[in-house]
Amino acid sequence: MSATFEILDKDAGGRIGKLKTPHGTVETPTVMPVINPNIQLISPKEMRSFGAEILITNSYIIYRKEELRSVALQKGLHGLLGFDGPIMTDSGSFQLSVYGSVEVTNEEILGFQQKIGSDIIVPLDIPTPPDVHYRRAEDELAVTAERLEAARKFIKGEQLLAGPVQGSTYPELREKAASHLKGLNFEVYPLGAVVPLMESYRYAELVDVIAASKRGLSPASPVHLFGAGHPMMFALAVALGCDLFDSAAYALYAKDDRYITVNGTYHVEKLNYLPCSCPICSKYTAEELKKADNKEELLGRHNLYATFAEIRLIKQCIKDGKLLELVEQRCRAHPRLLDGLKKLYTHSPWLEQLDPATKGTYFYCGPESASRPEVLRFAKRLERFSLEGSVLIRTGQIKGEGSYDQILTFKAPFGAFPREMEEVYPFSAEVSKYPDYEALSTALSNTLKLMDLNPKAEYTFICEKEFKHPLIEEISKKAKLVYREAWKKE
Ligand SMILES: [Zn+2]
Repeated sequence: MSATFEILDKDAGGRIGKLKTPHGTVETPTVMPVINPNIQLISPKEMRSFGAEILITNSYIIYRKEELRSVALQKGLHGLLGFDGPIMTDSGSFQLSVYGSVEVTNEEILGFQQKIGSDIIVPLDIPTPPDVHYRRAEDELAVTAERLEAARKFIKGEQLLAGPVQGSTYPELREKAASHLKGLNFEVYPLGAVVPLMESYRYAELVDVIAASKRGLSPASPVHLFGAGHPMMFALAVALGCDLFDSAAYALYAKDDRYITVNGTYHVEKLNYLPCSCPICSKYTAEELKKADNKEELLGRHNLYATFAEIRLIKQCIKDGKLLELVEQRCRAHPRLLDGLKKLYTHSPWLEQLDPATKGTYFYCGPESASRPEVLRFAKRLERFSLEGSVLIRTGQIKGEGSYDQILTFKAPFGAFPREMEEVYPFSAEVSKYPDYEALSTALSNTLKLMDLNPKAEYTFICEKEFKHPLIEEISKKAKLVYREAWKKE
């Protein structure tokens, strides 16, 4: 349990937390805008007006450039950037991953970050890219582990120390690395070397990497998805338990004339309209933006507004218990994100342990909703119901039902449950009147399981004509099956 991180609200694997740093407390989930110490598209001072509470910059760039280094050593990091809130510093690992080597040792860069007053210090770990040979991932992990152990002995006091989790695209290595680091008590756990996965839209594998790392860590620890800055995948990552993101994207995309939205990115030349109401998009038309002398800066500003608006929406959804609904909507922006969503729900048994038992109304948003943790939880609890005598299963009240010993309500994707629970979460769910195949599959197989658990009861199942599914035939072998239309005439 970290004394620097407090969790206030939870939904699925997501949470609203408070992270204490020497320069103030940050509410998570949040994004840290990346500040390039050399070029600033938007000044660090201004970042608060977009919603930023914490910044991230690169200590290696500062260390390597004499004029930056001397100012940082003299005035401190906060003096150098002109920002008095929390600042995290990267170590040069990114440069290591791009250039293959760096001109600094782990101890030197740790000492430098400590001296200039970084709030969150990152050791010089080895960012192993995806798809390398298992042996290489293992060997590099061993070097990272040594460096992180050294860092933990070296950094004491109130500055926070990050313990990056590596392990390439091998979930077992990620989990092993994470559980090793858990024992060393870092204050923040970045998940490293995931940028190539995001750049190539490999969201399903990203989900596995995050879930594996999270399994190894304490659920009470804050997690930073290093290099993730596109708002379209924030909700998915937050639902898996990521608390911090960092965005170089706002500036890099702006440089490339790209306009960020939660549904993807537009090239500004192709925009006829600006689908946003931030101060920039309210003031300029698409044509004016394209011709503006400061187009890059304007795009950078819009990109930041869009980024932080999504963070605020995610936090509201956590408060309302609606995070998974948001994830299901966002993941429809791209088929590869949809793969990420499907992968997320393969982790439902794990998510179910983290997900609050009651929350806002469950909304059925599509076939994937049938695999949500709440549905799984209900299936696990079927044995709690004990049924005997004549049992009526129906979707809603029908005439003459008073003559049955027990009455169950059938609602896809759950199945059959005592009618007294209709208003109880999650059975109070808002679902489609025309359940899809996946919802019926889950609900009908749960109903069959319930019948098998209580073989002595005599069942009557009132079927709706919309229920077209092969399992209906199985139901008819165990229950008297009557269509609602026919029942009315009886
Ligand atoms: Zn805008």
